[in-house]
Amino acid sequence: VKKKGGQYAKQSAPVERAGVLGAGIMGGGIAYQSASKGTPILMKDIKDEAIELGLKEARKLFAKQVERGKLSNEQMAEQLSNIRPTLSYGDFAHIDLVVEAVVENPKVKGAVLAEVEENVGEDTILTSNTSTISITRLAENLKRPENFCGMHFFNPVHRMPLVEVIRGEKTGDGAVAATVAYARKMGKTPIVVNDCPGFLVNRVLFPYFGGFSQLMAAGADFQRVDKVMEKFGWPMGPAYLLDVVGMDTAVHAGEVMAEGFPERMGSLGGAGNEGKSAIQVMFDNERLGQKNAKGFYAYE
Ligand code: NAD
Repeated sequence: VKKKGGQYAKQSAPVERAGVLGAGIMGGGIAYQSASKGTPILMKDIKDEAIELGLKEARKLFAKQVERGKLSNEQMAEQLSNIRPTLSYGDFAHIDLVVEAVVENPKVKGAVLAEVEENVGEDTILTSNTSTISITRLAENLKRPENFCGMHFFNPVHRMPLVEVIRGEKTGDGAVAATVAYARKMGKTPIVVNDCPGFLVNRVLFPYFGGFSQLMAAGADFQRVDKVMEKFGWPMGPAYLLDVVGMDTAVHAGEVMAEGFPERMGSLGGAGNEGKSAIQVMFDNERLGQKNAKGFYAYE
């Protein structure tokens, strides 16, 4: 254990019980992944319908494992019971590590993190799955910033091996160690990165979305762009990827990236269509992507 800030950071105990705030695309996926690798997880949202969506997604993923002969029905039932839905913070008293996965909005995330901190033990590690917002900035909402770091999963959680563990200015070694260990327990490959808007992966990805927006503003056909990128060897093109990510998440994350790196991200605001980027136009027209079955492409 390294010396930090004049104190020895606490050695972290293994994560036996986890919690996730938000049962959306990411929260539902994180709950499935934790449950399937044997760590019980409490999943909180603000409405029953959202919880139901998260559970539905997890059930679907478990059912696929049964179909493939990788799980028996009994194992599925057992692992599914590792996900405990709740609408109340009151249930978080004995949770070892919480992943915040609510909407990509610094104010909402700040309020949610401050509220959960009031309801957990002093040693509980709090993490955020934010795609872009600075961990140091989010930590300003907390009384124990040393127990807080980023834990950034990628979509879809069950398929993407990488997890960025983000060290904010006040993050302690114990928080990083516990988060790395939990990511490994979930079968993921953690990398520890320093804090900045977008961390490592989205610092690369968002300028790529910006380039795509510029192409769209210049009159390109999104399906052709996608096909070209697939032939280039990437698993999917930018339009399809944006449908997977969700246009709301992309717009909110794009704003944070533009604030952090104005010289590189100006293109997300793109020319054409009254100065709006293609992503913004889709968002304004409520074409959010796969989450509401219509984005660049239409879904069943
Ligand atoms: P989503 O819109 O699918 O889900 C967000 C959920 O948060 C909703 O169910 C909503 O009801 C819930 N919520 C809102 N306020 C809440 C509150 N106060 N308490 C509890 N729940 C609340 O969004 P998502 O795509 O799952 O994204 C969640 C986070 O994960 C964002 O920070 C996003 O940037 C990040 N992320 C997203 C992706 C992606 O590809 N979608 C990838 C990596 C990280």
